[in-house]
Amino acid sequence: MSSWHIPDGLRERYLEGTLEPALAMSVDAHLGGCADCRAAVPYDKDWLDASWARLEAELITPRLSLSERLLRHGGVPDHLARLLSATPTMSRAWLAAVVAVLAFAVLAAREQAEFLPAFLVVAPVLPLAGIALAYGPRVDPAHELVAATPMAGPRLLLTRATAVLAVSVVLAGLASPLLPAPPGLAAAWLLPALAAASGCLALSSRLPVPIAALAVAGVWLAIVGTGHSLGDWLAVFGPAPQIGYGVAALLLTYRFYRVSTR
Ligand SMILES: [Zn+2]
Repeated sequence: MSSWHIPDGLRERYLEGTLEPALAMSVDAHLGGCADCRAAVPYDKDWLDASWARLEAELITPRLSLSERLLRHGGVPDHLARLLSATPTMSRAWLAAVVAVLAFAVLAAREQAEFLPAFLVVAPVLPLAGIALAYGPRVDPAHELVAATPMAGPRLLLTRATAVLAVSVVLAGLASPLLPAPPGLAAAWLLPALAAASGCLALSSRLPVPIAALAVAGVWLAIVGTGHSLGDWLAVFGPAPQIGYGVAALLLTYRFYRVSTR
């Protein structure tokens, strides 16, 4: 320590805040290294404590996003809520796209009944797009981080895919009653959507998630296209195919479960 100490006059101007910045900074620097001068600076312990607490709250306590607060409020465990809401901003774009597509499909079907198939065909594809966008190194800023945790891989994929599916099913479910169709037909997209999502999960053990999603979407469009070319688009939404979608959803989910817990 040098023998120089802050003179009273300088300290007073420092405390009043009237020192020019360069001088104030050198007083700061000296205070940082000199206990004697620090002792001469009066301070309010309560004010200091409060200010540390405020700093701590700002820097250490994570700021919860709206979605995270909603999830926690809905009873989702903290760590899952954090993980789900750390999904990339792209999933917000996906959400907006889902709402837009569903609204457009409903409006078109109400305008002209022959547009009804569009809704039923598109609804199972929407969760696939969401799954593809909500997972993977290229779109996920948290990917590096979560890849190093036990939640990496299939479990994380399942968590996010389930969230994506739940959101799509709720949104399409809200839109369905607005369709100009009997309830059974208006909800005919549900089992295909479940089968498609579980197919995507099952394929993801062999293919990158976006490719798996594309492949499953292709299969679904081929099924619909076949029905259309046979002259009856409704056929692929009939009772027998619905049972098929349901069974496929169960088997594919089981397969994904077996592969991911191996
Ligand atoms: Zn000093």
